[in-house]
Order: sequence, then C-alpha cells, then structure tokens
Amino acid sequence: MEVIEIGTTGARAEGAVSPARGRARIRPARHLADLDAAERRAAVVELGQPAYRADQMSRHYFGRLNDAADDMTDLPASVRGELVTALLPPLLTAIREQTCDRGLTRKTLWRAADGALVESVLMRYPGRVTMCVSSQAGCGMACPFCATGQAGLTRNLSTAEIVTQVFNGARGLARGEMAGGPGRISNVVFMGMGEPLANYAAVLAAVRRLSDPLPDGMGISQRAITVSTVGLVPAIRRLAAEGLSCRLAVSLHAPDDELRDRLIPVNRRWNVATVLDAAWAYAAATGRRVSTEYAMIRDVNDQAWRADELARLLAGRLAHVNLIPLNPTPGSKWTASDPQVAAEFEARLADRGIAVTVRDTRGREIDGACGQLAASAAPLSPAIS
Ligand code: SAH
Repeated sequence: MEVIEIGTTGARAEGAVSPARGRARIRPARHLADLDAAERRAAVVELGQPAYRADQMSRHYFGRLNDAADDMTDLPASVRGELVTALLPPLLTAIREQTCDRGLTRKTLWRAADGALVESVLMRYPGRVTMCVSSQAGCGMACPFCATGQAGLTRNLSTAEIVTQVFNGARGLARGEMAGGPGRISNVVFMGMGEPLANYAAVLAAVRRLSDPLPDGMGISQRAITVSTVGLVPAIRRLAAEGLSCRLAVSLHAPDDELRDRLIPVNRRWNVATVLDAAWAYAAATGRRVSTEYAMIRDVNDQAWRADELARLLAGRLAHVNLIPLNPTPGSKWTASDPQVAAEFEARLADRGIAVTVRDTRGREIDGACGQLAASAAPLSPAIS
C-alpha cells in the first residue's frame, strides 16, 4: 500500500495513489494574486515604487479585470511594463475551450508554465453565474468513480493559479463572451480538479483574494464560495476556525464505512462518523448549512436502506443533501442510478425531513460535469490563443 502526504495537516492518507511525475518542478511565478495587501505594498517598494502603486495595480487587476500594461494609464508609462512583468506574469494559458448548454456552460483547459494541465468550468444560470475551479493539477485522493482521481496528483496550484481561473472567467463574462450578455461571477465552487483541503494554504489565500472587497480582492461573497472535500478532518476543523462564512461541501457518497472505504479511499483514515463530526463542528462555527454530496451510482449506493441510513445520520443537523447523478467516466464499470431509483432515494430523504436537491448535469457533453475533469492535452484541437 502506498502512503502519501496530504494537506498541510501533517496527516497521511492510506490507500491513495501518488504517481511520481518525472518532470522537474518549476514553482509558479509570484503574482499579485498570491499576495495580501501588505505583501503587495512590500513587493512594489522592493521594485523601487511608492507603496500606493500596489493599490493601483490591485484596482486594475481585481476591479477592472485588467492585466495589460497599456491600459494602466494612471501609472507612469515608464513603470507600467516593469510592474506588470514583475507582478502579473502570465500563469495559465487557455489551450482549449468548449461550450455547451446553448453557450451557458464553458469549459476551459489551461496549461501552466511547467506544462501542468487544469480545467475550469463557467456555468450561467438564471440569476447567478458559477465558476468551478481546480485547486490541484490532478488529484491524489484516488476515488474510483472520478476521472481526475484516476490520473493521480501532478501538483498543487498556487493561489494565483486558482485566482487566475476566476479572473479569466470574470473577464470573459464582463466582455460579454458568454451567452446571455455581460455579467459577473456570483459563485465560486472548488469542485474542479483536486482536493482543495490538501492544498490548504493556497486555497485559503485564494478564498481571501476572491472575497476581499475591492481593491484588495474580487469582492465575491464568502457565502457564495463553496469548498468541497473528501473529508480531510484536521483541515475541516482548521477551516472552521478561520472565521470565514464559506460553504463546506462534504463528498459523502455512502453512509456506511464498508462502502465509503471503497468509494473514498481516505475514509480508511477518517471514517463517516469522524467526517460528519467535523462537518457539524464547521456548521456550528460558521452557522452555514453543510452540503453533503452524494453521487447516485446504480446498484452501488442507491439502495433504499442507504437513504434511510443517510437520513438517520443527518436528522436534526444543519445539513443538506446534494444528489448528483453519476457522470460515468471512461472505462468505469459504474453508471448513474435508474431515475426511478434516484427519485425514490430522494423521496425517502425528503420524507424524513432532510433537505435534498438534485444537482443539474451541466457540462455533461463536454466532459465538464462533476468528476469528469481529466485534463488531457491530446487531441489539442481546436487550439485557441
Ligand atoms: N476533491 C473534492 C472536489 C471534487 S469534485 C471533493 O471530493 O469533494 C466535486 C464533487 O464531484 C465531489 O463531490 C465528487 O465526489 C463528485 N464527483 C466526482 N466524480 C464524479 C462523477 N463521476 N459523477 C458525479 N460526481 C462526481
């Protein structure tokens, strides 16, 4: 059995794979979005500029969604180029974009400077726009039903690599590139590639950059940001103590350890009871209802008795169940539950007083739905610049 280091918690996960990637590690370049306000000021002072230039840069980047020196006309022409080169290096290059759902869903494949590939998905709904971001290139959690989990972990993303996904989505949306006209991102979900709590420090800083009010950040409400986890208990407890009001989603997928051990290998380290205890502590600390994710897998986890057991675990708790029809991944022996079976599962939860919704299947035909992100550069067409 292989053992990997997960997260900054010092804890180890058994049963997860850790594929070695031969390539030499290049650290992503330092970027404005990696830095908090004080660090940004220090960085411009280091470059021989007055500290207030940091606020000007932030206003361009976070506020006007502008990262081009030419457009920074409130900065002396002589320093623009240097500041942009030093603080706004290009981190991710879009190498493929796919849209579906009549242009209301857009998936982007990004390549980082070291060649690592990640994907993000922008989804427009009536009254809100949700950006689904990746927190890692690949994932080390090895959940057998998830496409990202099959390829293993390449590396953690930096804070700015996470924020850049939202920046680019927000800019495209502001420019009216998405069906429905110009708009703003209202929600961010850490439900793309990777286990956000295994990249704790970068994800936490990204949450702050996204939610800090202008000009320090993008001004997205923390209440509209969801961090989704397999259940890394020490990290959930740590997050609960950060004083945030983000939503936590826990990928439960089974109410019993026997099955959850198979679906979420890290369950062997932190079992159902331990994960839910941490979830309730999060709910108590933040006042936020915890979302319990449950992918409906035919004849695997969709039995009536499991609905009853799930209801028993959640009864009286600040919780909500999100049922996700399984998106079958290539080569998987599993498929989505029969709609009637799924409807009965949902009804049994609702009958027992559990708040339950069924996740829509946005992005399905472009492999942009839950668990389908498995960035591959081949084939690479149509390439976009
Ligand atoms: N590592 C995080 C984020 C993963 S993606 C986590 O595990 O929570 C967000 C959600 O999609 C998770 O609940 C994940 O279990 C679910 N998911 C993964 N693969 C899926 C698939 N093939 N079909 C449906 N949901 C899936």
